[in-house]
Amino acid sequence: MTHSGATALEQLKRIVGADHVLTAAPDVEPFVVDARGRYRGAARAVVQPGSTAEVSDVVRACSEASLPLVPQGGNTGMCGGATPDARGDAIVLSLARMRAIRGVDRANATITVEAGATLAAVQDAARAADLLFPLSLASEGSCTIGGNLSTNAGGTAVLRYGNARDLVLGVEVVLADGRVWDGLRALRKDNTGYDLKQLFIGSEGTLGIVTAAVLELFAAPNARVTALAALADVAHAVELLHAMKQALGDRLAGFELISARALHLSRKHHPGSPDPLPGHPWYTLLQVDDTAVDPPLADAVETALAHAAERDIIADATIAQSREQAARLWALRENISEAQRREGQNIKHDIALPISAIAQFVAQTEAAVIDAFPGARVIVFGHLGDGNLHYNVAAADGADARQFVANTPAVNRIVHDRVVAAGGSISAEHGIGQLKRDELAHYKSAVELDLMRRIKSALDPRGLLNPGKVL
Ligand SMILES: Cc1cc2nc3c(=O)[nH]c(=O)nc-3n(C[C@H](O)[C@H](O)[C@H](O)COP(=O)(O)OP(=O)(O)OC[C@H]3O[C@@H](n4cnc5c(N)ncnc54)[C@H](O)[C@@H]3O)c2cc1C
Repeated sequence: MTHSGATALEQLKRIVGADHVLTAAPDVEPFVVDARGRYRGAARAVVQPGSTAEVSDVVRACSEASLPLVPQGGNTGMCGGATPDARGDAIVLSLARMRAIRGVDRANATITVEAGATLAAVQDAARAADLLFPLSLASEGSCTIGGNLSTNAGGTAVLRYGNARDLVLGVEVVLADGRVWDGLRALRKDNTGYDLKQLFIGSEGTLGIVTAAVLELFAAPNARVTALAALADVAHAVELLHAMKQALGDRLAGFELISARALHLSRKHHPGSPDPLPGHPWYTLLQVDDTAVDPPLADAVETALAHAAERDIIADATIAQSREQAARLWALRENISEAQRREGQNIKHDIALPISAIAQFVAQTEAAVIDAFPGARVIVFGHLGDGNLHYNVAAADGADARQFVANTPAVNRIVHDRVVAAGGSISAEHGIGQLKRDELAHYKSAVELDLMRRIKSALDPRGLLNPGKVL
C-alpha cells in the first residue's frame, strides 16, 4: 500500500473508529461479492460510518486522498452496482450502521429514516403507527432504504403506489466533496426550482451518498384479497388487467404475471408449494387492498373474476381464504428468483414495455430466441401491472448452463433490440450497475448520454463516486 493510502486509512479509523474500518480479507469478503455471485471485486477497506457527519468526513478524506468510494447498503442489488472493481484501490462505504428511524409524523403521514435502515424495519415502523410504507420486495429483510432509493426499486406494489422514486419527499445527501445537502423536506408540494432529490434517486451511488430520507406513508389497508387466475396467453392477462382496473379502481395493488415454466421452477425448488390451478400456460397473481371493510372486498373481487370468466378472459381462478393461503400464493411468485438461482445460471433481462405491446413482444421474442438457440428455455414472470417483465433465458434442459450464458451478448441483442423497438426500457427496476453499462451506452441516444455525463461531471468532477457504474 502506498504511504498516502496508509495515511488515509489511519485518518478513516480516526473518523469512524478502528473497529469500523475492515481490512482483513475474511471481513472484507462479503462486501466485495454481489448477491448473485456474479461479480467479485477487491477493496482497500470497508468503512462503516455511524452518522451523517462521519460519512461527510469519510468522503472528504477519500476525496483528498483520491480514493474511489463504492456505497453499499444491503448488497442485494442485481446489477453489481455495489461491488468494487478488481483494482483494489476503492473504499466500500457501508451504510449498514446508519439504521435509525429518526421519526414518524402521523399527521403528515411521513417517516424519516437513515439510509441503512432495512426496508422491513421501515415497513414495521410504519405499521406500528397504523400506517403503510408500501414498497415491497422479496429482499426486504436485507435491502436498505439507501439502496432502494439509489436503485429506484420497484417491487410488487408499484401499480398502486409507484416506484421508490414516487415515495420520497426529501433526502439528505453527502456530496462528492463531503458537503452535506439537507433536503429532508416533508412536503408534498414544493416547486422551488429543480427537483434535486430526484437526481440522486436511481443514480446508483454515482452522484452522492444518500444518508437519510423522508418517505411518504399511506393509510394501512384493513382488507386484503389475494387471487390467482389461470389464462390461455399474455393477451388475456393484459385484458384481465384492464378489466380488474375497471372493476376495482386503485384498490388493485399488485398484478403479477407468471408463466407455467416459472411456476414449475418455483414449485420444483420449493417442495410443498401449492399447485392450485394445474395445467395452464399462464397465471396472474392479484392483490387487492382496501382501507374500508364494508362492503366486503372479497365479494367485489369474486364478482370481477366471475365477469372475466364469463367473457372467457380467464380459464379459472382461486381466491385465498386465509392470510396463510395468501402467503402461500405469494410465495409461488416470490420464490421464482431463488428457484432460478438453484436451477443454474441464466441470462436475465429486467425490461419495461408499454402494457399494450407486451403480448406481441412475448410471442415474437420467444420465437426469435428459440430460432437462434434451439431448445433454450424462456422464463417469463414479473410485474405486468407496471409493464415490467423479468425475461430470462436458460439453457435447454440438460445442457450446460455455464456454457449457455457465454451467449449473453447475442441473447441480449435479440431481447433488447425488440424491447427498444417496442418503445421499452432495458432496465425497469434493477438499475444499470456494471451489468448493463455497455447496453446503456448502446441504446441511449447521444443526447441523453451527453446530459447524463454532464450531470455526473457537475456533481462528481473527479469521478470518485462508484466509478465504472452506470456510465
Ligand atoms: C430475492 C431478491 C428479490 C428482489 N426483488 C426486487 C424487486 O422486486 N424489485 C426491485 O426493484 N429490486 C429487487 N431486488 C434487487 C434489490 O433488492 C434492490 O435493488 C434493492 O433496492 C437494493 O438495495 P440494497 O440496500 O441491497 O442496495 P445495494 O445492493 O447495497 O446497492 C445497490 C446500489 O445502490 C448504491 N447504494 C446503496 N446504498 C446507497 C446509499 N446510501 N447512497 C448512495 N448509493 C447507495 C450502491 O452503490 C449500488 O449501486 C431483489 C433482490 C433480491 C436478492
